[in-house]
Amino acid sequence: MLAEVPRAGAEAVDEAVAAARAALPAWRALDPGARARLLAAIAANVEEHLEELAVLEARNAGKAIGDARGEIGMVLDTFRYYAGAPERLLGDTIPVAGGHAFTVREPLGVVGLIVPWNFPLTIAAWKLGPALAAGNTVVLKPAELTPLTALRFAELAAEAGLPQGVLNVVVGPGRTCGQRMVEHPDVAKIAFTGSTEVGRSIAAGAAQTIKRVTLELGGKSANVVFADADLQTAAQAAPLAVFGNAGQDCCARSRILVEQSALDEFLAELESAVKSLRVGDPLDEATQMGPLISAGQRETVASFLDDEGVNVAFRGSAPEGPGYWFAPTILCPASPDDRAAREEIFGPIAAVIPFRDEAEAIALANDTIYGLSGSIWTRDGARALRVARAVETGVLSINSNSSVRVTTPFGGFKQSGYGRELGPHALDAYTEVKTIYYATEA
Ligand code: NDP
Repeated sequence: MLAEVPRAGAEAVDEAVAAARAALPAWRALDPGARARLLAAIAANVEEHLEELAVLEARNAGKAIGDARGEIGMVLDTFRYYAGAPERLLGDTIPVAGGHAFTVREPLGVVGLIVPWNFPLTIAAWKLGPALAAGNTVVLKPAELTPLTALRFAELAAEAGLPQGVLNVVVGPGRTCGQRMVEHPDVAKIAFTGSTEVGRSIAAGAAQTIKRVTLELGGKSANVVFADADLQTAAQAAPLAVFGNAGQDCCARSRILVEQSALDEFLAELESAVKSLRVGDPLDEATQMGPLISAGQRETVASFLDDEGVNVAFRGSAPEGPGYWFAPTILCPASPDDRAAREEIFGPIAAVIPFRDEAEAIALANDTIYGLSGSIWTRDGARALRVARAVETGVLSINSNSSVRVTTPFGGFKQSGYGRELGPHALDAYTEVKTIYYATEA
């Protein structure tokens, strides 16, 4: 066993909210430079403990150690970036009659952060960085399956000088602790990442107290490959764009749309790339993909292969023995109506769907309730821009599969959620704009 953590109940949320509320006046009043230095000190302490945190994350979530290092690296980059924010929370001055009008950004108050198990500390940091920079205090609820890095992070933040009560971690189930955070009258906002189903219930629950809500939900992103693309590069890059983190990624490009005339050439390249993917022990430096998070997740993922009419084109390898292993799997040809092409699988299965022309590629890419991410591969620059504007998602890459950068906004269209994380835009989600008018007429 890796660790045992006592399970908190709703009363622990009440205590955490009370602590966050008590810490709020001093934290929001702290001079912006001091708040900035504290966030930078947290980043420095995370950097000092990067390897420890990465190993803890890899062991708890079963993710490849190289990926875990990258994720903890992003945690410290996120804190470094938002360390620049307290002194740059600028307002406007607006010309009006009889005086001066200007705006300031106020913190929201106590903010509740509910995060999933797929990128545990990274997704927490996307929320913690801007929330704390803007002068809010927080209650963080990690997923029950992966609480260990959040707990260790809270210790590291305290060591770096973060005052008591500013960051509170509650480890307990979503349906009790998470729900209490959503209902709590003293919580001003919920920032949530997880399933669309739970996101829907959070939005409904938050309406009772008119809480602000940011939702980062599911995805069914399209990787659109035109025949004029560098097919070798696109095919070699495609497996990790969906099988990274064992497919448990909201940005997974789990629908690979390929122009019909290039299908055979693309598939031949894709097959060699999928078969050479190294699936194994998360702590082995060579590993690119680990197991799934739980027995339940493996069962859900496997059920997609039992559907009628599913064509398994080829599969990669997976170890035998203990662990929730699932070999990376390519379905081809898949129909856009297949369940595997419509639902978020959250596991290493990708559906390859052929298309005839640009218009059909756009229609297929948009034929989903989701709208989070996606890629376009082509050497035709004008087409790349046309398609990028036409695809209804919050984040798109051209000739690349990257989705997330600390410095650029990230979030979804449609039922992938609302609100933006990261980049300068995240600060809007953790502040209220206040307008102040000062009469100057004698
Ligand atoms: P959930 O959406 O259930 O969990 C995400 C977080 O929300 C966890 O911290 C969970 O707590 C909490 N939570 C659960 N129910 C409630 C509630 N009623 N009120 C408040 N908080 C709640 O995702 P799962 O872990 O169950 O995964 C199920 C599926 O969701 C996956 O197979 C995948 O398809 C999708 N998913 C998508 C993610 C994304 O980034 N788009 C991330 C994770 C999952 P706890 O787990 O501790 O009970």
